[in-house]
Amino acid sequence: MPQRNSPGKSHSKGITLLELFEMFPDETTARKWFESIIWKDGVAVCHRCGGTNTYEVANGKPLPHKCRTCRKHFSARHGTILEGSHISLRQWAIAVYLVATSRKGVSSMKLHRDLGISQPSAWRMLLKIRSALADDSDVYTGTVEVDETCVGGIEKNKHESNKLKAGRGAVGKTAVLA
Ligand SMILES: [Zn+2]
Repeated sequence: MPQRNSPGKSHSKGITLLELFEMFPDETTARKWFESIIWKDGVAVCHRCGGTNTYEVANGKPLPHKCRTCRKHFSARHGTILEGSHISLRQWAIAVYLVATSRKGVSSMKLHRDLGISQPSAWRMLLKIRSALADDSDVYTGTVEVDETCVGGIEKNKHESNKLKAGRGAVGKTAVLA
């Protein structure tokens, strides 16, 4: 498995917007990044039936995966803080990095300007990212990679039913921090 880009490595010195845009040059890169976090073992899990007999569809926007068992399209957004958002995953990924690697905190005005999204959207986005990160503040250390810390939070926001369906052992904060 290729080494994932980790914001943990750049945490101590912060990260520039330029570096971020280079890390996530397009939507597909960002989607793959989120998928690698949400589906730990690299298999897309159908959120409806929990099936792993799935495949990626061509031009599958906004639902890039399809389940062979229940024949529905799905994406990694389901059951996470990304669900129901019209913000692109590229913008989400950059926002997560900005929030997680900023020592002084990131304002919704900054996200609004940097990402070109509305200020109310930026504000809601910020709330979700902060809540995903908040519960991990006690255990946060330099050794815990930001993406995995945040994912713990993202995973916790899932409905209980989705958590169980996803149950392939490697999802969630507990597994990450264990
Ligand atoms: Zn299914």
